[in-house]
Amino acid sequence: MPQCLSCQSQHTVKNGHIHNGKQRFLCKQCGRQFVEHPTNKLIDAETRALIDRLLLERLSLAGIARAVQVSEQWLQDYVNMKAAQVPRRANVVPKKRGL
Ligand SMILES: [Zn+2]
Repeated sequence: MPQCLSCQSQHTVKNGHIHNGKQRFLCKQCGRQFVEHPTNKLIDAETRALIDRLLLERLSLAGIARAVQVSEQWLQDYVNMKAAQVPRRANVVPKKRGL
């Protein structure tokens, strides 16, 4: 199975076909549906790490998208995906003892 385009998880399953007959996949990790060979390019881990740093600088999404040469739509999806992960991750953090 291909990697998820959003979270790069390999927990993906076949999920029917899109209108032109291409195989569609569903990510069990983040719930995103995608096709294996999309027209938009893959964003590699290095670029994602750079984006994460730029986001911390509170730059505009449009500015970041131009700087790292990704689409604003992809970046918006990426930010949404990250935002959605935060509360889920927070829920599994154990209570601090002492410290
Ligand atoms: Zn995913």
